Amino acid sequence: MVALRFYRTLNALGALIVLCILGVALTMLWTDRQSDWNRSAQSARNLLITLEDDISRSMQLYDVTLMSVAQAIRTPGFEHAGPALRQQLLFATAAVTEHLGSILVLDTEANIRFDSGSIVPRQGNFADRDYFAIHKARPDAGLFVSAPYQSRLRDGDPSIGLSRRLFNPDGSFAGVVLGAMRLSYVREKFTGLALGNEAAIGLMRADGIMLMRQPYIASEIGRDMSGSATFRRIKEEHVGSFVNRASTDNVERLYTFSNVRGFPLILNLGLSVDEIMKPWRTKTMVLGPITLILCVAVTTLTMLFQRELRRRRLIQAELDVLARTDGLTSLANRRRFDEVMAMEWERAGRRQSPLSILFIDADNFKLFNDRYGHRAGDDLLRRMADAIAHSTGDDHTFVARYGGEEFVVILPDTSAEQAVPIAHRISDAVAALGIAHPDGVGGIATVSVGVAGATPDRTHAFHHLIERADAALYRAKGAGRARVELA
Ligand code: GH3
Ligand code: MG
Ligand code: MG
Repeated sequence: MVALRFYRTLNALGALIVLCILGVALTMLWTDRQSDWNRSAQSARNLLITLEDDISRSMQLYDVTLMSVAQAIRTPGFEHAGPALRQQLLFATAAVTEHLGSILVLDTEANIRFDSGSIVPRQGNFADRDYFAIHKARPDAGLFVSAPYQSRLRDGDPSIGLSRRLFNPDGSFAGVVLGAMRLSYVREKFTGLALGNEAAIGLMRADGIMLMRQPYIASEIGRDMSGSATFRRIKEEHVGSFVNRASTDNVERLYTFSNVRGFPLILNLGLSVDEIMKPWRTKTMVLGPITLILCVAVTTLTMLFQRELRRRRLIQAELDVLARTDGLTSLANRRRFDEVMAMEWERAGRRQSPLSILFIDADNFKLFNDRYGHRAGDDLLRRMADAIAHSTGDDHTFVARYGGEEFVVILPDTSAEQAVPIAHRISDAVAALGIAHPDGVGGIATVSVGVAGATPDRTHAFHHLIERADAALYRAKGAGRARVELA
């Protein structure tokens, strides 16, 4: 009962330790995963903000230039100025960078009217360009970012145009002022970022036209992405991030996007989920097996410990049996007799039922030993023990070796009178063995038996009963041995 509870506690403790280890490991991995993810998302956002700022600032600079050109044209007296002065008025404040192509002023027919690159304007007509059509049709187009095109003035250099409509004093269409931005400028910005092999970044017009992307694929530039799932997400959420598997290369990415402040442009950065999670996976590969090994170790230890305990319990049980057993006859020993006697005496006292004991002593045993040797004596003791044990004929009867060549039998629920026939049966059984004993009674091995019985009361302890049985035995010896005497 106690052992069972102990085993259960042991099991529960083992399980608890395993659960704790698993809990700690899982919590650690989970929070690590979260923080790895959040860190990546955060740095993606930061990167995007920086890039957006950069692009937005360049665009603003270009726009200021375009507006100052428009302003110059409307300056009173502009029409009457000479070509050189006009050039000065128009383009003095122009932001000249390597990324900005020429600034052109187109007339209402899309012919070049003024050219920042030359006092005598280069020849060219841009009626076919989207920006011209837009500004001509829509006074409210504002700053227009064109779809990518190949510059006709700069040997097909991929560019986008930033343009504004020019107005006559009456508000009618007066042409377009245009600044070209080389796409290589955006491309260089993109390639300068260390994003990982599977990252993707794109600059799109708000209507989904791809302006530049990294990795660079020439055929993708200018493509209308408005139908793609990624773009639809961006349009819905305006700013933020989401995870999506790109249909083009089947790479799952964490997309972070934002609308470039003040311009109809969208920046979209996609970091490969695989690459984000790589450090975490590496950690998991190490921590996972270690955790499992720990759990297996704890379980194994618990099991080994239990097995050892069980083994010890079995040994203990064997020892307990040995401690109660007589080595020679395998009967209960004196120690056990004392225990059982006390128990039966107590029980008989409780039930007020009679209890008898038989004291049995081998007759002239010393002489048997002297004649046949100690080993033969041992053998006789064993056979006598066997005969006694088998002639009582009752499960409740308890037989013990009291010591030396003496045996004792406890007969519960048996009065002294009822015990006498049992004593005779035992005596007869020993005699029936017919073991030759020339110095014994009648030439065979015999026993003498003292019988005593009592119903326990408060005045006498069971030792008194034993003394009476012993006295009866003594009388049997005195009366010639091989007989039964009642106390
Ligand atoms: P009595 O009929 O009066 O009982 O005579 P007895 O010889 O049986 O009694 P006594 O007490 O003189 O001798 C008992 C002998 O039993 C002495 C001892 O050597 C022998 N004995 C006691 N224990 C053992 C034992 O375990 N094995 C053997 N072989 N002999 C034992
Ligand atoms: Mg004796
Ligand atoms: Mg004897």
